[in-house]
Amino acid sequence: MDDLLDPSNVPAPDRLGPDDTFRFDCRPDLPCFNRCCRDKMIPLWPLDVIYLKQALGLDSDAFLEQHGRIMPDPTNGWPIISLGLDPENVCPMVTDRGCRVYDHRPTACRLFPLAWAAKVTPQGKQDEFYYRLDAPACLGLQEKRDYTVAEWRQDQALADRQDDNERVETALFPAGRRGVEPPDPRQVQAVVMAAYNVDVFRGFVFKGGFLEKYEIEPGRLEQVRDDDLAALDLGLDWLAQVLHRRPALRPK
Ligand code: SF4
Ligand code: SF4
Repeated sequence: MDDLLDPSNVPAPDRLGPDDTFRFDCRPDLPCFNRCCRDKMIPLWPLDVIYLKQALGLDSDAFLEQHGRIMPDPTNGWPIISLGLDPENVCPMVTDRGCRVYDHRPTACRLFPLAWAAKVTPQGKQDEFYYRLDAPACLGLQEKRDYTVAEWRQDQALADRQDDNERVETALFPAGRRGVEPPDPRQVQAVVMAAYNVDVFRGFVFKGGFLEKYEIEPGRLEQVRDDDLAALDLGLDWLAQVLHRRPALRPK
């Protein structure tokens, strides 16, 4: 995921801002239809896991067991979750008619043929931009339809997802990914549970010692019980607290 996020990997002329244009049109009648859904690492953000597990009618633990791959980020050892491919290296969500979870597809699939890069500058500001992926097999890149980056974000309903993705990134890496210390096994476990495995985190809140340690408003607690996004929200606050000692939760 770091390749997608670290601006230093992208030469300045290739950076795209909101008003920059690119050429792209994806249609089922193109001979490359579905070719993009194989042979690649598809990173999953916490929100992607929530929408996919809901679309498939699975709890988050079963989803991660069946479809998630967890690996350490090669630059810092923190966990990266991706969508597991089948033995032929094809995404298990693809069918002859396209993506079977299209309305719930992950952020990376929505972004394609773009990728997003962002980091927190030493001044604490967010430096973010997009760039076009090198995808020679994608014939849609030779079509004549123009999009601005802003139009593409709207077309692919990316704004909310990216806002939430940024919040996750900031909770996990307040000063950026570069230079962070590698995690210990307990930190890895905490991140995987609270950011990606909302149903297990919910069990930890209601059946573990969580409520003996933290004061949570009753209204928020009720939402956590029924709403995956509310559970993720609480999970991120907990991670900010236990990973970075930021006072995101009120101790009892
Ligand atoms: S989730 Fe859907 S769009 Fe994304 S790679 Fe798989 S089949 Fe393709
Ligand atoms: S045009 Fe590109 S994105 Fe669309 S199906 Fe073909 S390879 Fe995939």
